[in-house]
Amino acid sequence: MSIALHEWGVAELATALAQRRVSSAEVTQALLQRVREHAHLGAFVAVDEEVALRQARVADERLARGERAPLLGVPIAHKDVLVTRELPTTAGSRMLAGYRSPFDATVVARLGAGGDGHPGAGAVTLGKLNCDEFAMGSGNDNSAYGPVRNPWDPARVPGGSSGGSAAAVAARLVPAATGTDTGGSIRQPAAFCGVTGIKPTYGRCSRYGLIAYASSLDQAGPMARSARDCALLLSVMAGPDPDRDATCLDRPPEDYTRGLDDPLPGASAARPLQGLRIGLPAEFFGDGCSPDVQAAVRAALAEFERLGATLVDVHLPRTELAIPTYYIIAPAEASSNLSRYDGVRYGYRAAQYTDLFDMYCRTRSEGFGAEVQRRILMGTYVLSHGYYDAYYLKAQQIRRLIAQDFLQAFSQCDLIAGPVAPTVAWRIGEKTDDPLSAYLADIYTLPASLAGLPGMSVPAGFGDGGLPVGLQLIGPHLAEQRLLHAAHQFQRTTDWHTRAPASVLPSCQV
Ligand code: GLN
Repeated sequence: MSIALHEWGVAELATALAQRRVSSAEVTQALLQRVREHAHLGAFVAVDEEVALRQARVADERLARGERAPLLGVPIAHKDVLVTRELPTTAGSRMLAGYRSPFDATVVARLGAGGDGHPGAGAVTLGKLNCDEFAMGSGNDNSAYGPVRNPWDPARVPGGSSGGSAAAVAARLVPAATGTDTGGSIRQPAAFCGVTGIKPTYGRCSRYGLIAYASSLDQAGPMARSARDCALLLSVMAGPDPDRDATCLDRPPEDYTRGLDDPLPGASAARPLQGLRIGLPAEFFGDGCSPDVQAAVRAALAEFERLGATLVDVHLPRTELAIPTYYIIAPAEASSNLSRYDGVRYGYRAAQYTDLFDMYCRTRSEGFGAEVQRRILMGTYVLSHGYYDAYYLKAQQIRRLIAQDFLQAFSQCDLIAGPVAPTVAWRIGEKTDDPLSAYLADIYTLPASLAGLPGMSVPAGFGDGGLPVGLQLIGPHLAEQRLLHAAHQFQRTTDWHTRAPASVLPSCQV
């Protein structure tokens, strides 16, 4: 039986390439064609076919010489928040239109050609993926380069801010992509598009070369169709980055694919998750969560029980406070991080101005979109004299309490599970005039972000309108392996993660 090339996952492609059953040039060409055929999704903001094909040919030469690297010749794409030398980087903003970075982000280098002592995993970069401007948003409708459409229903958002990444993986334009997650931007779009994504522990992956939004929260992570493929990518991305990111943990890389197929110690093959205690926070299953999402999540949890896991009730009593806390801390950090866009050092500068001050004002008014300006204003306000103690400091204190709630919960369980988002994907434009309603929809992803914990989105079925629902798994710090193992075991007995949207055109059989 022949399976269409674009249906191959990362692991299958890497194996086929290493066995020389297919060439990287062939795969790259086939996927580039799909990218062209699916331009209406708006997932890509930059594609350079020449660059991609050159990288593919280099990979093919290395493969011909018998060289091995984990992703050698596998095409992937990067969220446009990760800087790349060979392609422009805009962070979805007019401010950075046409910007070229003189260097690659650490995770880009590690996945691709390597650098600074890292050999690189050999992936081919197909292009850069659309996202909300400076990663601020939940629907990918805040991009200066137009919205991204959800492949399951083009009238719907793909989620955000890594909406291009999720849509591209769901539409089978690439087998995997990078995303970044500050308050849910890997997990929520993965859920809305029916793909798998993991936000690692804060500090597990280097932030060097990530265009900064909120530095105490930003993390890069992989998005793919399966947990196994996420594990493959994360094994390459994670690890210390001395001299470049002081917040990157000094902990060697690990092979997250190891033992994925094995049952937990002491468990049987039939009940491989026996002994795993999954905590269900009551606060994640309240009235705010729509019935269709609840039903899919509950059904997924029943499958985890069949696999041997035990469900236990836990509490995260400050869940509601995560929204005001995050929407003080993140804009505060953003207002500081984005002060560098002054029309002098980077990117856009207003064409006409009277004096220096006027140049700053016009540059920032014209270069930033409405949501980014709103957050700069909020952030500047909460950091200003007289409000700092009342808002910013208070938010930092509550952030600590939220982290303590998780510590308490993890004394009763090994993983926490719940929905990723309260609803399925909404219609494009539905929340544009009501930013608060979009902020509220982040309720289940923000707590783990504030606590720096790893979180995952696993396809768990479909809700209203036949749209995908994601199950969120949250682990203690550095429990990525536990998350990926549980998700992989779930994916061995379910096929939600293999479902493709009907709109996905068939092309290219091998
Ligand atoms: N939706 C959240 C926000 O708008 C999270 C975004 C993100 O994780 N980058 O800030």
